[in-house]
Amino acid sequence: MAQVLVVTGGSRGIGAATARLAAERGYAVCVNYLHNPAAAGKVVDAIVQEGGWAIAVAADISLEDDVLRLFQTVDEQLGTLTALINNAGILEQQRRVDELDAVRLNRVFAANVTGSFLCAREAVKRMSTKYGGAGGAIVNVSSVAARLGSPGEYVDYAASKGAIDSLTIGLAKEVAAESIRVNAVRPGFIYTDIHASGGEPNRVERVKSAVPMQRGGQAVEVAQAILWLLSAEASYTTGSFIDIAGGK
Ligand code: NAP
Repeated sequence: MAQVLVVTGGSRGIGAATARLAAERGYAVCVNYLHNPAAAGKVVDAIVQEGGWAIAVAADISLEDDVLRLFQTVDEQLGTLTALINNAGILEQQRRVDELDAVRLNRVFAANVTGSFLCAREAVKRMSTKYGGAGGAIVNVSSVAARLGSPGEYVDYAASKGAIDSLTIGLAKEVAAESIRVNAVRPGFIYTDIHASGGEPNRVERVKSAVPMQRGGQAVEVAQAILWLLSAEASYTTGSFIDIAGGK
């Protein structure tokens, strides 16, 4: 039986690298996305060309009905869920806290926090021995922003990742005796499109000299840590964090 994995935001950046690496390691992968079917299709095509199994499903993880449909589609098309990567996340234009309004705050928290909670809920309902499941693993994609705070850029985003850290700790303890492990990665400055959403596509180039290793990271370097946390090699690891930030 194939291991079945949902990667939220699996169509670009860290999610796409994770989906591809997971497929190489034998997972059947659901590549979730929001706006860009072409990017999701490219990831699925690459996986299928290499002999793997993947589907693309459009769903806004901040909307409960979309999340229900996403997981139902996986049940029907891929089979019993064994793993979730809570990866989808957004940030918005660089602003100070005294310039933020409720509309923006709600958008960021809905995508980054509510979305991860809803997906975790659906995964637990399928994987927990409490519900007759056979266990599984969840990896949440947090950020070093949770401990750095992102001053002058996006404290709202950093705070949403602080919530993801608390979700990781609390949920890990809640389901530890139900054969589910819950861990998180905290990437640093990684070369992806997300920095363009903040209004600075070349942000990694600007900030990389502040990284002890003096460089930005690649999405696949995050994916490798995620795949380790999912694997049996991490069988006694839960409620843990791996910072992938070049020492930042
Ligand atoms: P990215 O390149 O901007 O890709 C974001 C992905 O999330 C896309 O696949 C996008 O789909 C999807 N997405 C956005 N909102 C969604 C929603 N509401 N529902 C479903 N899918 C949604 O981002 P990334 O840099 O790879 O970031 C991935 C994760 O890593 C995020 O949680 C981010 O906070 C975290 N992270 C990134 C960095 C970094 O430096 N890049 C550092 C620390 C943490 P569409 O393309 O279809 O819109």
